[in-house]
Amino acid sequence: MTSAIVTGGGSGIGRAIAHRLAEDGMLVTVLDLNAEAAERVTAEITEKGHRAAALGGVDVSDRAQVNAAVRHVRDTAGPATVLVNNAGITGFKRFLNISDDEWDRILAINLSGPFYLTQAVVPDMVAAGWGRVVNISSSSAQSGQQFMTHYVASKAGLIGLTKSLALELGPAGITVNTIPPGFVDTPMLRDSEEHGLLGGTVDQHADRTPVRRAGRPDDIAAACAFLCSEEAGYITGQVIGVNGGRNT
Ligand code: NAP
Repeated sequence: MTSAIVTGGGSGIGRAIAHRLAEDGMLVTVLDLNAEAAERVTAEITEKGHRAAALGGVDVSDRAQVNAAVRHVRDTAGPATVLVNNAGITGFKRFLNISDDEWDRILAINLSGPFYLTQAVVPDMVAAGWGRVVNISSSSAQSGQQFMTHYVASKAGLIGLTKSLALELGPAGITVNTIPPGFVDTPMLRDSEEHGLLGGTVDQHADRTPVRRAGRPDDIAAACAFLCSEEAGYITGQVIGVNGGRNT
């Protein structure tokens, strides 16, 4: 059985991805900083008769915690050959007001986190001669987004990481792709709406989206599941937009 790790699997997009990969027959480790959320999602999955394990209280921006988490997965669920780097935080600030700490924190979670996870997991993928890495970036890194310079820079970095690593790992049978979601209805998006940070409501944005709705976590999960499948073996280094036509 394929062992998969989904970071940030306790909420929103990560939760949907964890459900979907488990439905596709993988043993999914739901890794999240929020231990309660990781347990909750794991219980949802196992109640449906699929396989999952919770790994809560892990901060992806902490190298030592990440290494310990990946060792734990190797020992309990088997070496992971599917990794979805989804955990992330957002931030809204005028450029001149972004502090060093805010800049460092967003880069640490959104970019260094995937770096640590991928470095920890790739040796197992190389040993298996097969692997799938999917990085959840952001459509804002394709378009740019005012008042989110730190966030967008972190996600643009993730796209660059994806493209470069795909070239390096292709010969080992490992694909590396990124999905930059656009406007997906999750707790993160609703939190931004509540704080008046979206420049309108979710519904108003949905009306301006070509497919006339907000994205659903399942939309991202479906694309992610395909990229993690055997069938997607000739797709690597790609930026697969799932955004209702907001960025073309
Ligand atoms: P979400 O609902 O806030 O879920 C993110 C999950 O990641 C939460 O469970 C959160 O835990 C966890 N997390 C945060 N920091 C972490 C850390 N340091 N280590 C481990 N886990 C951590 O967000 P979402 O909307 O599903 O977003 C998922 C990903 O998609 C993010 O990378 C985001 O940037 C990206 N994205 C989302 C959208 C969108 O429209 N929603 C658009 C573009 C990109 P806590 O609850 O403890 O914070």
